[in-house]
Amino acid sequence: MTPSPRLLLTIDYESWFAPSRRYDFLAPEKRHTLDDGFSRDAIDPILEKFGDAKVSFYLVGELVEWYPELPQKIMDAGHEVGFHCQVHRPLNLVEDVELDLRHSVAWRKKYNVHGFRAPMINTVEGVYPLLEKNGFTYSSSLYAPTGTVIKKGNVLEIPASTLPLLGKPSSFHAPRRMDLPLVFGGEFPYGSSFMSGLFRKTVFKIIEKELKAGLSPVIFLHPYEIVSPANWPARFARDLLANPLLYPFTLNKSSFLHDLLRNFSTSTVEAYVSEANQ
Ligand SMILES: [Zn+2]
Repeated sequence: MTPSPRLLLTIDYESWFAPSRRYDFLAPEKRHTLDDGFSRDAIDPILEKFGDAKVSFYLVGELVEWYPELPQKIMDAGHEVGFHCQVHRPLNLVEDVELDLRHSVAWRKKYNVHGFRAPMINTVEGVYPLLEKNGFTYSSSLYAPTGTVIKKGNVLEIPASTLPLLGKPSSFHAPRRMDLPLVFGGEFPYGSSFMSGLFRKTVFKIIEKELKAGLSPVIFLHPYEIVSPANWPARFARDLLANPLLYPFTLNKSSFLHDLLRNFSTSTVEAYVSEANQ
């Protein structure tokens, strides 16, 4: 059945340097040093902002190694703990995802993780059977028009939201990421914090409209967009110079988040999926 409309607000819980590709292959200890306690210290103020609203957190697994208290804190506040890969980097080869899943099996089992979000919302079809084998019930790793739910074997794909301006696309094969073909195909990927960074009011209005139409928008934010890291965005300046398109990810969106929570009801994606499966 189609669940009642709600905002599916998701947090891709990753370190402040994750949008840049410069750190992907550093030794994990170097990334830990670079994080400098940010991901540990941001969690309490973020959880506080949600109050009674329930959302899904997709955690990068190496953060759980660095700060083992993270998943329990999220669960104790009533939210869902999902998986944003053990290390945040492009994982487009099935073998790489398989390895990443193997490295994360212990904490995923311990916290009963059922939801997957690929880094950069960029994945391939071969990942779905792997997810199924590893106990995932759903993934949110494509972009597609709100309300699209795709059955990939026994895994449901619940994509990050787009607004189709030129008619609804008919095929939803991975990858379906935020790139020029998607945008030139007429889809406005308002689920991305890139767009809420640039077009906050427009995104808010689209969410309002979609909910009124009975749909459940899937949008995501990052911790560094809710709690700005110290010396921000100066500490990210080199990355911004190398890739100015990262700029919208450095904007603080806590007042956007506040507006969303004040106006719309939310649920975890896991709750939505279990209703959809009934
Ligand atoms: Zn991410």
